Amino acid sequence: MSATAEQRSDAAQRSLGDTPVFSERLTAFLESYYAGEAPNAGRFCGHCYSPIARERAECPHCDRSVKERPPVGYVPDPVREMFRRMRGRESLIVNSFAYLGLALAVLIFIVAFAITFSLSGNVWLLALDTLLLFVLARVLAGLLGGWIGDELGHRYAQRKLVEEWQAFEAERA
Ligand SMILES: [Zn+2]
Repeated sequence: MSATAEQRSDAAQRSLGDTPVFSERLTAFLESYYAGEAPNAGRFCGHCYSPIARERAECPHCDRSVKERPPVGYVPDPVREMFRRMRGRESLIVNSFAYLGLALAVLIFIVAFAITFSLSGNVWLLALDTLLLFVLARVLAGLLGGWIGDELGHRYAQRKLVEEWQAFEAERA
């Protein structure tokens, strides 16, 4: 990422404070929408699109009153697309790290196999190496994907989401 893009997203993050772009309720709603479990209908905040109950006069997520921003009956396409892209970026990074873990396991296996083969060539030791490959592949893919990949993917996707949200807001206003 270039320095200016970095600065821009930092500024975007600051202007939003600690409030995430998508509320927990909107995230839960969009997850069930994309799982085909819910239609795109309801009562949503006119500013942040968090689902809000009929009796509420202000949004519990962004605190804007319904007078200031009248609620809408569905989540607009650009917002749903933003959510989909955010999830796509997250899983791309998680999967890349998981594959890196697999590659690392294979590399360790090859080295261990070569050493075992040149030192003894004992077939049971070679079989043990193969077992090591399966265990390592699972552990390393889980560690790198689920731990580093998850953390980095989440941060990267959130940063891009904030940028996209700012652009969307500027266009909407
Ligand atoms: Zn709101």
